[in-house]
This record gives sequence, C-alpha cells and structure tokens, in this order.
Amino acid sequence: MGLLVQKFGGTSVGCIDRIEAVADKVAAHREKGDEIIVVLSAMSGETNRLTALAKSIVDYPEPREMDVLLATGEQVTIALLCIALRKRGIGSRSFTGAQAQIVTTDAHTKARIRSINEGPILSELGKGNVAVVAGFQGVDELENITTLGRGGSDTTAVALAAAVKADECQIYTDVKGVYTTDPRMVKDARLLDSITFEEMLELASLGAKVLQIRAVEFAGKHRVPVRVLSSFEEGNGTLISFEMEKKMEDPKITGIAFEGDEAKLTVSGVPDVPGVAHRVIGPVSGAGIEVDVIVQNAAADGSNDITFTVKRGESERAKQILLDQQEVIQARNIDLDKEIGKVSVVGVGMRSHAGIASKMFEAIANEGINIQLITTSEIKISIVIEEKYLELAVRTLHDAFGLGDPN
Ligand code: ADP
Ligand code: ASP
Ligand code: MG
Repeated sequence: MGLLVQKFGGTSVGCIDRIEAVADKVAAHREKGDEIIVVLSAMSGETNRLTALAKSIVDYPEPREMDVLLATGEQVTIALLCIALRKRGIGSRSFTGAQAQIVTTDAHTKARIRSINEGPILSELGKGNVAVVAGFQGVDELENITTLGRGGSDTTAVALAAAVKADECQIYTDVKGVYTTDPRMVKDARLLDSITFEEMLELASLGAKVLQIRAVEFAGKHRVPVRVLSSFEEGNGTLISFEMEKKMEDPKITGIAFEGDEAKLTVSGVPDVPGVAHRVIGPVSGAGIEVDVIVQNAAADGSNDITFTVKRGESERAKQILLDQQEVIQARNIDLDKEIGKVSVVGVGMRSHAGIASKMFEAIANEGINIQLITTSEIKISIVIEEKYLELAVRTLHDAFGLGDPN
C-alpha cells in the first residue's frame, strides 16, 4: 500500500476503450489499498489537431491563445476517466491545472512549474477518492492558462509526485519502458530494468521522447522515484535510479538517442576577432530560438565559419535574423541546410573508457556516412549527419556497441 502518481500518455487514453482500461488499472490499484493521483495527457493526436487548427489561420498564433486552446485536450480525458471510475463505484474528482493550483511562469507554450499547492488534492485523497489531474497545464500568477511544452504531462506527474512525496511516480506509456534506443526504429532494442538519472537526462535531452526532459530534471532535483512502464502489458518497466556507481561488467554505452527535425546554419567568412560568436548567436537565441550544437572553425585567411543547429521549424526565422544582421556581423555567406539529423551515444560507462569515439566514428565511416559536426560531454557523443542516414546510423551504432537483445 502506498501513495502513487500514475500518468497515462496520449495513446493510453486514445479512445474510450483505452480510457476504460485505465479505469480498470486504477481500480485494481485501489483494491490493493493504494492512494492514487492520476495525471492524464490529451487523447493521442489531439494536441497536434488543435495546433493545426490554429496554424490554419496564421503561421505564428498568439502563444497565450495557443495555451487556452491546447489545454482543452487534457480537460476532455480527465472528465471521461472520472466518469469511467464512477461507473466502477470509485469516487474521484477531476482537476484542471488551475484547480490543482499548479502555478507556472508566464512563458506561454513552454512554462515552468513554480509551485503546487498539494492541499486540495490531498484532501480529495483523504476522502478516499482518486484525484485525476490534467497534465501539461497550469496557470501563471495572473491566472492565465499556461502549458508546459510538448510531452509536458510527464513533468506535471513528477512535480505532483514531488509535492505530495509519493512513493513512486509511474509513467504509463505505449512501450514497456526505456529501451537502448527507440524500439519503434530498432526492433531488437533491449528493455532496460533501470537507468541512471544522469543517463536518462542525456537521452531525454538528445531526443528520446519517452520522458520530457523537465520531468527528469524535476525527478533529479527532488529525488522522485520514477518508473516508466506500459499501460498495455504487464511488467516492471524501467526504474530511473539515483545509483551513480556503475559495475565493471556494465556496458559502457547505455543507449542511443536521435533527433530528426533539425537544421544547420553556417555563417561563413566572419572576422576572427573576439566577440564574433556572441554577435552571431546572440540575436538568434535572443529571439527565443534554441541553439543546439555550435562549431567554430578558423580559416587560414583570418576569417571564421560559425555553424550551429536549430529545430527545423525555427530555421527560416533564424536565417532571417542572421540576414538582417549580415552587415553587422560582416558575414560573407549565410547558408541553411534543412536536412539534418543528430545521433548520440550515451553512457556513464564511457567516462572511464577511452576509444568510444573512435569506435563510433569507425562504424559510421564504414557505412559511408559523412559526419558534419561532433560534440561531446563526459557521458555522451553526438554527431550531426544528413537526415536521410539517421536510421542507418542508429542501427549501425546499436549493433556496433552490442546493445541488441540477445534473444
Ligand atoms: P506518451 O504519449 O505515453 O507520453 P510518447 O510518445 O511521448 O508517449 O513517448 C513514448 C515513445 O517514446 C515510444 O512510443 C517510443 O517510440 C519513443 N522512444 C524514443 N526513444 C525511446 C527509448 N529509448 N525507449 C523507449 N521509448 C522511446
Ligand atoms: N498533450 C501534450 C502533448 O501531446 C502533453 C503530453 O501528452 O504530455 O504534447
Ligand atoms: Mg510523452
């Protein structure tokens, strides 16, 4: 018996049958005597559908109104689940983000949770009821509706689990847990029993969308025990562990993450003088565009090339900003390549082992794939390549590092 936060993602509440199945699962936990806070996503496809509606009117809809629109998706599922629970004789109450008193910053469409008043939810549990909370949404200090960025229901769940000091935060999704890579791309990807918090943080930040990065950050900060598991099949899933020590026999590489919709901007022929990188990158990030990999190369003639990647959807805007600045930064050329992808190998074990990078580059070279950019940290190596080779690169590296399921 314990206090659990159980989050169900879009596919897990994608239709009435799935919502009834979630109600059965919650009912089974209630039978065991657990106290339960459920966090729900919108039905799968709903957030995309709502976004497309707004974008059919203008390319860049007002962020505040986007949040009012997108928050409706989760309001549908919380009500339906409460109706399904009531049918099973289980008392429950739905909470929108505002009703759950989830207060966020005012950064519409990418707000961060500032505080949660756990009182109303705990009082519902005290009455013997299940609390069903809309994921992904909150309110700012002026009570404007805000949302937490795509995948944000994960963060709602972990933040709530931290606020109520839950015994476990269970993230139910459409795969059995965290795998060595996306099991939808690599069929023999292996399910991990556990993964260190540090590795999960890297995988999430490098494109593995199984957990939103902010959820992992929250779990780390508040030491929330998080487990990722399937809402479709029984199993123990994957525990995010805070055990940082790796055993000698553990693999050096834990997983491979990838991101497809990236673009690369190259600003060439800028003067090789102090402050130039700041003048190039500053206006782009100042416009709220997230800049990822940055590489600077000095040429023999005293000029510099600065190359960096951004999300493809923001690349035209980034290019326009640079073109507007072209005279100020004295750039000879500004080029945009929109067919770029990034593949990363992650593992705390690589800290104590040399040769991971050369093994990675050799495997990629053997497939005739050209590496355009490289970045490393203590526990990850990322390469930027032509997007059409993304899948081949992921499979190749998964094999090269022996990550596949032996069965
Ligand atoms: P939900 O709607 O439940 O939040 P998401 O689609 O956001 O689910 O996340 C689950 C998906 O994450 C899986 O279906 C899988 O395709 C993808 N994924 C990417 N990398 C991994 C990984 N390393 N392990 C498990 N799933 C992964
Ligand atoms: N519905 C939101 C999304 O699709 C939030 C979530 O599912 O976590 O991104
Ligand atoms: Mg998700």
